[in-house]
Amino acid sequence: MKSSAIPILLYHSIDVPPARYKPFRSLHVHPDRFRSQMRWLKRLGYQGLSMRDAQPYLEGKKQGKVAVITFDDGFLNVYQHAMPVLNELGFTATNYFVANQIGGRNEWDIPKGAIEIPCMNAEQLRDWAAQGHEVGAHTLDHIYLPDADSTEAERQIAGSKKILEDILGSEVTNFCYPYGGETQAVRDITKQAGYVYATTTKRGHARASDDPFGLPRRYIRRTDGGLLFLKKLFGL
Ligand SMILES: [Zn+2]
Repeated sequence: MKSSAIPILLYHSIDVPPARYKPFRSLHVHPDRFRSQMRWLKRLGYQGLSMRDAQPYLEGKKQGKVAVITFDDGFLNVYQHAMPVLNELGFTATNYFVANQIGGRNEWDIPKGAIEIPCMNAEQLRDWAAQGHEVGAHTLDHIYLPDADSTEAERQIAGSKKILEDILGSEVTNFCYPYGGETQAVRDITKQAGYVYATTTKRGHARASDDPFGLPRRYIRRTDGGLLFLKKLFGL
């Protein structure tokens, strides 16, 4: 049987988008739209899974209609608006947390004019995990890793794993490069830090033959209506 290509969906913020133009406005997906997209997955026979739960499929050891659901940045609004929908449908998801902003906010985007978005605190992060979802890491400070020297890159990549594991009390095995910024050297540091997978913002479906430290995703934006969502899901 031919190993199938798996869509890894990428979301950030699940909230009512700012009314007026603001930088990064497109990363907000309206909660109603998110619910509708998740119901489409279910209706089409997809199982929505976290990176951890999807591992046997990503490795090609198991076949099935799977869509991986990921969120970048650990925003509180995902806990509030997306988790109830995921739980209702029996789906799991991965959220990639910025370790120095647990209980903080999107400090990395605010200087660029973005609206303030709170991040989950430690208690919410633990509850996210207790409800079957996965905690992934997204560096300490949401830096662009290719600009960091190797010592700093290692501190950001290994350090975020350690902080999140201390909060969680269990292992963190999934990582995501902020801004999709990575190089072969960054991938090597991520592998050495003990992660199993790392996701990028490269466009595409994931295949078993892909480098586990350079998995592509499908970015779902604010304006992606039903048809565009389905096109991204099917890789058209
Ligand atoms: Zn991010």
